[in-house]
Amino acid sequence: MERVLVSACLLGAKVRYHGGDARVEHPVLRRWRDEGRIVAVCPERDGGLPTPRPPAEIVGGAGGHGVWKRIALVQTRDGGDVTANFVHGAEAALAAARDAHIRVAVLKDGSPSCGTTFSYDGTFTGARVGVPGVTAALLQQHGIRVFSDNEIDAADALLRQLT
Ligand code: SF4
Repeated sequence: MERVLVSACLLGAKVRYHGGDARVEHPVLRRWRDEGRIVAVCPERDGGLPTPRPPAEIVGGAGGHGVWKRIALVQTRDGGDVTANFVHGAEAALAAARDAHIRVAVLKDGSPSCGTTFSYDGTFTGARVGVPGVTAALLQQHGIRVFSDNEIDAADALLRQLT
């Protein structure tokens, strides 16, 4: 069975930086859960960060790909460097995906880890940039198709093709 990687906060896990979740009530997610397809990950937690934790953004506007090129850092508002945690968490997510032979992921958009169609630009002003977070970028670099939480139907369509 084709499995799918999903951000844990979308499934109701209270692992976001503010201690809450980002639960999405979507029939496809419910069906995937019933089918046992889901592998849930939270890269920031798995990278060793506590919950709650200070919000962080990728500085420089290059997003997660910039982090992997070593031209961008992930920082908290007061300048704390949490890049290593984000890198370790992303590597853990990739390892989980590889273990389950996963080719499709649905991740929480806007997150510095899981952001898929956008992330924030590092100024903590709410300014968005159309680049992925650290985990989404790594998964993409390894051929995994990454969808945002607004693209669950498209992810399901691809999963059906692959199954
Ligand atoms: S790192 Fe991803 S899974 Fe974890 S709280 Fe942030 S968006 Fe959700």
